[in-house]
Amino acid sequence: MATITSKECAVHFVGSKYEQLKSFSSKTFEKLITLRKRWTNLSNNVGDVCRNSHKIISENYENQFTQISNEGEKESFANGYYFHLECYRKVANVSKLEKSEWNPKNEIHDQHHCIRERYRKRS
Ligand SMILES: [Zn+2]
Repeated sequence: MATITSKECAVHFVGSKYEQLKSFSSKTFEKLITLRKRWTNLSNNVGDVCRNSHKIISENYENQFTQISNEGEKESFANGYYFHLECYRKVANVSKLEKSEWNPKNEIHDQHHCIRERYRKRS
């Protein structure tokens, strides 16, 4: 299977330190895409970064990854993507995610589209 790789942080937060990029393992990749699905339903900055990360890990790749049954193949697929530990931790922060999901101000409204556009121009 051809894997398109991109050596940039998959979930980059503006303002985070430029640490060394690490490549995903199948475990961290799986965790990222699982949590990303939940963050993308929220209108906060982690949600923005997660929506933006579709440019790097599209839903198509996400689906490809989920369909691989061979552990070794899964691993090498995940290895083709990179992250900063600091950025990854923000997405992997499950307690913050749960808190945000309970907070009605994080619900997505129509105006959110504008926020997303602004974000895209800045990056
Ligand atoms: Zn980053």
